[in-house]
Amino acid sequence: MTEKITAVKGMNDILPQDAYLWEWLEARVRDLMQSFAYQNLRTPIVEPSALFVRGLGEVTDIVEKEMYSFEDRLNGEQLTLRPEATAGVVRAVVQHNLLYDGPKRLYYTGPMFRHERPQRGRYRQFHQMGAEALGFAGPQLDAELILMAHGLWQSLGLQGVTLELNSLGQPQERQQHRQALVAYFELHQAGLDEDSVRRLRTNPLRILDTKNPQMQDLVNAAPRLIDFLGADSMAHFEAVQAVLSANGVAYRLNPRLVRGMDYYNLTVFEFVTDQLGSQGTICGGGRYDYLIEQLGGKPAPAVGWAFGVERVLELIKSQGLGAHPQAPDVYAVVPEMAQLPLAMKTLGALRAQGLNVQMHSPGGQSSSGPTPATTPVGQSSEPAWMQLGSMKSQIKKADASLAPFALIFGAEEVLAGQVTLKALRDGVGEQRKMPLGDVATWAKALQCELRPTGG
Ligand code: ATP
Ligand code: MG
Repeated sequence: MTEKITAVKGMNDILPQDAYLWEWLEARVRDLMQSFAYQNLRTPIVEPSALFVRGLGEVTDIVEKEMYSFEDRLNGEQLTLRPEATAGVVRAVVQHNLLYDGPKRLYYTGPMFRHERPQRGRYRQFHQMGAEALGFAGPQLDAELILMAHGLWQSLGLQGVTLELNSLGQPQERQQHRQALVAYFELHQAGLDEDSVRRLRTNPLRILDTKNPQMQDLVNAAPRLIDFLGADSMAHFEAVQAVLSANGVAYRLNPRLVRGMDYYNLTVFEFVTDQLGSQGTICGGGRYDYLIEQLGGKPAPAVGWAFGVERVLELIKSQGLGAHPQAPDVYAVVPEMAQLPLAMKTLGALRAQGLNVQMHSPGGQSSSGPTPATTPVGQSSEPAWMQLGSMKSQIKKADASLAPFALIFGAEEVLAGQVTLKALRDGVGEQRKMPLGDVATWAKALQCELRPTGG
């Protein structure tokens, strides 16, 4: 046997038994985005590395150690598999001058890539769905986005998700805080790990984002950015909180919340849960009023969030929520090859009326190359694919498919211009002869019977 090729470490196949849940969640999020008048934007998975170095900040975990970067073999261009989508969204908005006729509300979905240590809730290819509001300065957009995410958890029925909120203020306020922070950490250098000692010179705020458990006490006692905010920043922050409170959205102020990228200012937030082990952040976001300018656009404010699809789905599953895989409405039983063309034509007419139809077909295995399409000369036995299986075995397959109906194309009834519709589950055994001359009419009636609400 030839050796198998397996997927890259930390990159997962999403198998059909899970994929139905993905599609279900994606549909819910799409509905939510549309209900808030957000429009879809799709950007490439590969971007120039400079986009992330400049956008996310050189001294961040992502840029320092998590990017999948490579050189284009033809022109030597430095490229990176996107580790997040905000920088790409901003690049596209700037490149296509999307803000020329006013602000935009956008959303996206897709795979992201980070070279991290794979573990529960942390993968090298993972997926995000995110929303970005570009060109708006007011706190109502920060609040709108938080309400949107909160509404999503509620509509999914998720329990135990907490909102953490902080304000990072404006650059000059951060500058003052930075001095206090550096003074504090210099005094406590012995408690810093290697990364943090380096960051003390380059990006001291990053130290607050450390995942090192031994540094938590030190970090908790550090000067708080919130204490350095001026009146305007405080007013913005309080306006966000007022909307949240009026909407019954509970939140916890967390002065240590700094987020993993440098582009944030003012409001930052995360939705966290204690039900996913140490990978408890399901969604993160905030305001990034300087990123558009930093990436070459006309200065414009913006705010957004992204949630991790894998983590949200794990939470959905662990709480017994979500959709169930859908069985076909009709399983077509075709005992003989002679009836196959007519059967397949009829099934098309059923699908045109909105019915989900699965046709019986025997499986096949190629043990030594593909099954010959024709019988070899001198052999009289039919090739395996011609043996469709007995009526009884096909009905058994129909039952196993969980379809509520079997549609039986027996030779005799087809000759009489009919086909048998057999109820399989509730009302087992009930059989009706349906005319082949007028499939659309009864197929439509059947569709209404199966989906009375029109879903
Ligand atoms: P963490 O602190 O867990 O590393 P982060 O701050 O790096 O998260 P963001 O860049 O804010 O994460 O991305 C938003 C969301 O994407 C996270 O809250 C999380 O749900 C998800 N996410 C981030 N990295 C991964 C990953 N490697 N695997 C799976 N999901 C991830
Ligand atoms: Mg991270």
